[in-house]
Amino acid sequence: MLKNKTAIVTGSTSGIGLGIAQKLAEEGCNIVINGFGDKDAIEKERSSIEKNCGVKCIYLGADISKPTEVEKMIKDAGDVDILVNNAGIQFVAPIEDFPLEKWDAVISTNLSASFYTMKYALPGMKKRKSGRIINIASAHGLVASSGKAAYVAAKHGLVGLTKVVALEAANNGNITCNAICPGWVLTPLVEKQIKDNAAKEGKSEAEAKEEMLKEKQANFEFATPEQIAGLVVYLCGESAKSITGAALSIDNGWTCQ
Ligand code: NAD
Repeated sequence: MLKNKTAIVTGSTSGIGLGIAQKLAEEGCNIVINGFGDKDAIEKERSSIEKNCGVKCIYLGADISKPTEVEKMIKDAGDVDILVNNAGIQFVAPIEDFPLEKWDAVISTNLSASFYTMKYALPGMKKRKSGRIINIASAHGLVASSGKAAYVAAKHGLVGLTKVVALEAANNGNITCNAICPGWVLTPLVEKQIKDNAAKEGKSEAEAKEEMLKEKQANFEFATPEQIAGLVVYLCGESAKSITGAALSIDNGWTCQ
């Protein structure tokens, strides 16, 4: 079903987004990769997706926190069949010390950006009466942790926004919009938090990593980008036609406690 579909994955130069882009390409999708990073590394990723999967893969380097850049990216992508809103950033501080510019950056990247991409991609999906939107939210879209005011607010907002778009897209053919809520996945975003926690608490990084898992994940394990990507592929298929407006956890038991 996914052969020759066009999929945009925001923030696919690293971590979970990269895993999703690779898996969708393996399923036969033409891919638009997006995100920041080293130019040569991005080109290597782009060309290896094309070569290994026999699909078309282009890079559009929009800063997704900027609406005009998002509008251009969606236009340049052509007919968008699958939109995966994945790009995200983190900043950790108690609310009284939370810098205003960090609040704005986290909200614009983790919440407003998905509003922009959906605003510009949904009309085409409605016209073609077909589409899949998957928003990578977080366990922090369902429950809170201290120190993460902006991230938790943005991810809860993204879960709500997912429900609104699911309702607005319903009765327009076969369009669904869902959120995936991962727990800890070992990516650069989380590696930085492990490093920061180790430095703050005078522990080794191995100890900080173990503590992070024991605090939240019932089986003390990380999920992988490939596992998140597996659910994305399922949600893009016909079997998932009746799943819309859902917030689906892949969190090793974090939010069932
Ligand atoms: P990551 O840091 O490895 O990757 C983030 C990606 O977003 C990168 O490609 C980066 O270049 C891109 N990006 C950041 N700001 C951007 C902008 N303004 N415009 C375009 N691209 C931008 O992080 P990750 O862990 O892979 O996270 C991916 C998503 O998954 C995020 O939304 C994150 O909140 C969510 N998430 C991650 C975890 C986890 O444990 N890693 C858990 C739950 C949810």
